[in-house]
Amino acid sequence: MSNSPISFFEQVNRNFDKAAALTKHHPTLLNQIRECNSVYHMCFPLRRDDGTIEVIHGWRAEHSHHKLPTKGGIRYALDVNEDEVCALAALMTYKCAIVHVPFGGAKGGVCIDAKNYSVGELERITRRYTFELYRKNFIGPGVDVPAPDFGTGAREMSWIADTYQSLVNNEVDALACVTGKPVPFGGINGRTEATGLGIFFGVREACSISEDMKKLGLSTGIEGKRIVVQGLGNVGYHAAKFFCEAGAILIGVCEREGAIQSSTGINLEELMAHRKATGSIMSFPGTTSLPDSAAGLEIPCDILIPAALENVIHEGNVDRIKAKIIAEGANGPTTSAASEALFKRGVLVIPDAYINAGGVTVSYFEWLKNLSHVRFGRMEKRFEEQAFRRILRAIEESTETNFSQESIDRIARGADEKDLVYSGLEETMCRTYQKIRATALSFDGRADLRTASFVQAIDMIALCYTDMGIFP
Ligand code: GLU
Repeated sequence: MSNSPISFFEQVNRNFDKAAALTKHHPTLLNQIRECNSVYHMCFPLRRDDGTIEVIHGWRAEHSHHKLPTKGGIRYALDVNEDEVCALAALMTYKCAIVHVPFGGAKGGVCIDAKNYSVGELERITRRYTFELYRKNFIGPGVDVPAPDFGTGAREMSWIADTYQSLVNNEVDALACVTGKPVPFGGINGRTEATGLGIFFGVREACSISEDMKKLGLSTGIEGKRIVVQGLGNVGYHAAKFFCEAGAILIGVCEREGAIQSSTGINLEELMAHRKATGSIMSFPGTTSLPDSAAGLEIPCDILIPAALENVIHEGNVDRIKAKIIAEGANGPTTSAASEALFKRGVLVIPDAYINAGGVTVSYFEWLKNLSHVRFGRMEKRFEEQAFRRILRAIEESTETNFSQESIDRIARGADEKDLVYSGLEETMCRTYQKIRATALSFDGRADLRTASFVQAIDMIALCYTDMGIFP
């Protein structure tokens, strides 16, 4: 999808250059960080169910090897091309550095519309793609670790893990070759909703700062905020779900078939059921239809969450965007020129490389789980629970009161895997927001949150190269 004369990778690099100019690193070092290190373009034939044969194009780009493995999703979409995977791989590099996830950045893609293929065809494509990555050393627990992205999910990740496992024969860490797997097959509880939940945690942190909310004419907190979501895929759906649970009002939704709006609020679960039954969000009771999908982005709202594809907010529509906060659930939804215009207008843009980093953060936890071969919480859950019970008993004795069984069960609970994943994600998103904001403030109005987060990423990566002794 291109609404901009500048390529996507160039967009990312413009953002990089703006931030790089605020640092003091050597130009050659900056150049090394900016370039995409390796790209592999593959073609292979697919025999379709009807007997015809088609040539499939796939890519994997590894943008930076300053830390290994490299990490990033695999998308199945018709817009996939070399420039796009390089741009997305670069964003992964910066994203990992921003949230302190110790990976380099990568991204893969296959140029197909997954909806036009049977499950059997998708499995053949995925397994062959994995085999091609393996042959060229573009996959492995310490090399390059894919994950879900647009058009892929746990099912594709399990095909990848299974193919890799069958190729490496007895490699004990083989399951760590990919993340986003189904939980019974080496996945981790909380990965599916991680990106959406991370968006929620990040925006909630931003909305808790009264000084910033005042500037936007908003009150603090999520409750009562009017939100618009573009894309009801894994990221958009889960983000919307967590916002609605916290009392936000979903007043608009855009999907590929169009956009709908309701000032009194849209019931998300009922909308999902309606879409499943009719194949479309349109004609959902109580909503009005907008002329086209993109018009949904222009609904006046407090928080706009573009959670579909890149370049949807561009010079052509930026003046009509009326949101006060934009949380970039998708990668690269705002062109660099549009981003500048929004910053000048005082719109709070919470950038992709930070706000959608929940996915890779929990992927990191999954990778650690696979390498340690133990479920998080397994060792300490019961110990913690008993320790809490002992404390409660001591309080009961010293205060001569009795807690109800309900209170004891609620308080004396050891953390299980999902609790730990949620808490690790919350800590990552909240702490990182405060850091990015502090960096932005340190530039006295010259840097928006995107530039500030890029500065942080650049500093972090530069440190790796200097630590390695490569650059002075
Ligand atoms: N595809 C997701 C992203 O763009 C997740 C990547 C990962 O978990 O490695 O951040």
